[in-house]
Amino acid sequence: MIPYGRQSIDQDDIDAVAEALRSDFLTTGPRVAEFERAFAEDCGAKHAVACANGTAALHLAMLAAGVGRGDRVATSPITFVASANAGALTGAEVDFHDVEAVALSLDPDRLEAEWREGTKAVVAVDYAGHPADHERIGQIARGRGAVLIEDACHSVGGSVAGRDGARHRIGGLPWVDMTAFSFHPVKTMTTGEGGMVTTDCDELAERLRRLRNHGLVRETDRFTEFGNPGPLAESGPWAYEMPEPGFNYRLTDFQSALGLSQLRKLDGFVKRRAEIVATYDEAFADLPLVETPRIAAWCGGDSRIGWHLYVLRIDFDALGIRRAQVIEALARRGIGTQVHYIPVHLQPHYRRRGGADSNSLPVAEDFYRRCLSLPLWPGMTANEVGEVGEAVRTVLRG
Ligand SMILES: *Cc1c(COP(=O)(O)O)cnc(C)c1O
Repeated sequence: MIPYGRQSIDQDDIDAVAEALRSDFLTTGPRVAEFERAFAEDCGAKHAVACANGTAALHLAMLAAGVGRGDRVATSPITFVASANAGALTGAEVDFHDVEAVALSLDPDRLEAEWREGTKAVVAVDYAGHPADHERIGQIARGRGAVLIEDACHSVGGSVAGRDGARHRIGGLPWVDMTAFSFHPVKTMTTGEGGMVTTDCDELAERLRRLRNHGLVRETDRFTEFGNPGPLAESGPWAYEMPEPGFNYRLTDFQSALGLSQLRKLDGFVKRRAEIVATYDEAFADLPLVETPRIAAWCGGDSRIGWHLYVLRIDFDALGIRRAQVIEALARRGIGTQVHYIPVHLQPHYRRRGGADSNSLPVAEDFYRRCLSLPLWPGMTANEVGEVGEAVRTVLRG
């Protein structure tokens, strides 16, 4: 079976993890800080804060931005549930705005027209790896006093040429306040489970670090509540202060060793994925009632897309075949596919909260009826890529 996604682990990765396991540190040790430094440098961000997974990264970003009960969070529905849940878990209300039809990311026109008082954060998702229009979304959000959190769980390794022509790596986009990454095995690079938040803001970085470790501050000169010197300010290696409770969202040292090793191969992974995308695009170009992925105008010029998913839009109704039948026919030929995603605003939790108007996001719902994700991972052989192309053509023509 050729799965729709798969990690690429080689001997370097295995050796790096084995070395970490033989060292003095299993959890927070020198490799965590080394991974953060290397990742920040790779993105062109001032800070990178490693954490347990992508969901934790989004949740920490929300908390660092001060989002909580009584606030609103805006996002779009073509994404994994975690993009919206990160806001909901803080007690905030989540508002869904429809996606644009080219890249399926948050539509800035909808966001602007439907903006709600009390919105404190916007989560813009880089669906399939294609960056959202962060330059415009950032103007809208920041202009109204909200922070922009980029959900880059799909787009690590990509870059965007801005409207001024300058090229920025994902994780270091100047229009975004914080960027959240996932290192789950199906994503472009992996640490098993793992995540990262990047930011250029010192204050946000400090809050992210504190909140991932129970809310503890260990540097006596940073003690806040009791002043310094105060009853808790006695200096010593045991001293810590907790201004507000946080989580245990730490990444381990051996996962960071894997992250460092994977990061060195990131550009190669992105390049190989782009080659497979180009091969698929060619294979499906002449198929009637099938659309291949498109690139939006705001990702022109020197932009380089770090594709995570290859999603076809197939007019199953006009072809007279059900999606489930296509999935089954491909599975019989040893090809795994997936549907990304059931629009999140249609999930029972959000339907209950949103009422009737949460049920009318037509671009997202139309896309959902047509989408199908094909296998895309760097370890696929040329034969496997060809096999997928042939099988999809045969099944959709039959
Ligand atoms: C994978 C993913 C997440 C969550 O990441 P985990 O590491 O699985 O917690 C969030 N948002 C998007 C878009 C994702 O694809």
